[in-house]
Amino acid sequence: MLQTETLNHCPVCGSKSLRRLLIAPDYESHTGIYGVDECLSCGIGITNPRPLEEELPKLYEERSTADFPRMDGFAQRLRDHVIDRYLDGQLGATTAVQNATFSTLDYGCGDGALVRGLLRMGRSRKCKVNVTAVDFHNAAPPGLVHLGADVVYQSNAAWHASPSQYDAIFLRHVLEHHPEPLRLLQVFAAALRPDGHLFIEVPNRRSVWARVFGKHYFGYYLPRHLFHFDRVSLDSTLHRAGFQHVEVRLAHTPLIGSSLGYLTGRGISNTGLLGLATYPLQVGVDAICGRSTTLRATAGNHG
Ligand SMILES: [Zn+2]
Repeated sequence: MLQTETLNHCPVCGSKSLRRLLIAPDYESHTGIYGVDECLSCGIGITNPRPLEEELPKLYEERSTADFPRMDGFAQRLRDHVIDRYLDGQLGATTAVQNATFSTLDYGCGDGALVRGLLRMGRSRKCKVNVTAVDFHNAAPPGLVHLGADVVYQSNAAWHASPSQYDAIFLRHVLEHHPEPLRLLQVFAAALRPDGHLFIEVPNRRSVWARVFGKHYFGYYLPRHLFHFDRVSLDSTLHRAGFQHVEVRLAHTPLIGSSLGYLTGRGISNTGLLGLATYPLQVGVDAICGRSTTLRATAGNHG
């Protein structure tokens, strides 16, 4: 069991107008039962009660959760392809990538899939890409060992002790794990070069599938996800942190498999056969309704 705190206000906007949306257990590691509240002022969803900040590393001690998917050949190649398309889409308009050295930070690198994608991008664009990869653990994940001098792995604590400057900072499925998103975003605003870009990806609590699955919706991922964004609250959180040129777009990530896993108590995963087979249905229904399971934000630094 983890020590928890109960919030009486929204950590992002300070409003005390919170409304309970649902109650759900920790389906992954059975640490207890948690609530999700909605801030009636800024619209963000808040896990409440939630683990104390000093308890959070316990949730990530093992690299065995869904943040570290084990994949076979086909799923791995599919994931690499998705990452390559993601990087082309996100960095396509970024002129800095033409620079002699393109300096990037992957904060919350997981198993290192995005880092390897950044190196592939550097090779295909014939530019030098440096990557700093950061995560909770002291040692680099196996997927980042032997990648050469262009990749540096740092623990979260080591990185915060001496942050560097970057052309691009990636926070893919990280911001929703942090207890004080404004505090974290302000650190990144200071670590971004003048023409740099911040790229964020978080789950969207307004997916049609959040309504279909209710408390079993994998996007809630309690208690690891401490915040549950929608388009409006992600945009306002970034502006509140001082970012400019904020753009939030809809995107899709397989979520039906693990939601079915939570619902049935079976080991069904997002990237297993059933998860991938239902993905076109998931995307189609969300797209028809103008919704999505994922939000992608791009933001510039303090102008
Ligand atoms: Zn709020």
